[in-house]
Amino acid sequence: MPSALECTEMRRMRCEHDLTPLVIHVNYLVNLAAVKPDVYAKSITAFRGEVERALALGAEHLVLHPGSFNGSTREEGLARVVAGITEATNGLDMAGGGLSVLIENTAGAEFSLGSKFEQVAELVNRLTPVIPVGACIDTCHSHVAGYEITTQAGLAATLAALDATVGLKRIAVWHCNDAKAACGSKLDRHEHIGEGTIGLAPFGWLLNDPQLRHAAFIAETPVDEEGDDRRDVEALKGLVD
Ligand SMILES: [Zn+2]
Ligand SMILES: [Zn+2]
Repeated sequence: MPSALECTEMRRMRCEHDLTPLVIHVNYLVNLAAVKPDVYAKSITAFRGEVERALALGAEHLVLHPGSFNGSTREEGLARVVAGITEATNGLDMAGGGLSVLIENTAGAEFSLGSKFEQVAELVNRLTPVIPVGACIDTCHSHVAGYEITTQAGLAATLAALDATVGLKRIAVWHCNDAKAACGSKLDRHEHIGEGTIGLAPFGWLLNDPQLRHAAFIAETPVDEEGDDRRDVEALKGLVD
């Protein structure tokens, strides 16, 4: 757990640099859909720790991959995620702390939950009575899961599909990543903005879409050489009208 001093310092630096919202990604080892009892129990404990630290730091969002239900049905996997989050957050005042969990859409690997917007929506809806919850949509994951976002018409149709399922207003964060792999390939490999199979233009359409004005945009691009992260963020900023 970060110390009280560290938490105060975090708040001070966020004010100083005007950094809002603070979005934390849950450890990738956490699998709340896991069949194995030990993995499931450890995931609940680890996820509770994530929520406690996010509350201490005053973060706004905690991004969670819904997990893998390998060894059971998808329906059982969904039920475990909801039960696990319910148990993990018991007694923690997320609403009072201004913290919400964002369910991220995934690339579509076998047994992984959440590659279809309908599945993200289903989880968000089931969790709504339990915790403050919304969604995080990743451009690379959407593209490799088979959603067309590389043409303006395709992106408009994908946004309409998102609005009809998750609801655009519930998407608090977008992960802006170009992709190394083809649309529909289900391969989750991030690429620098404008250098992958998505290309530069779709990021401009996203960043300037008035329907998404409430959302935060975050790059999760690779750092192959020093400064790559800054260059990718600058590439995105350069697209904003
Ligand atoms: Zn992501
Ligand atoms: Zn990814």
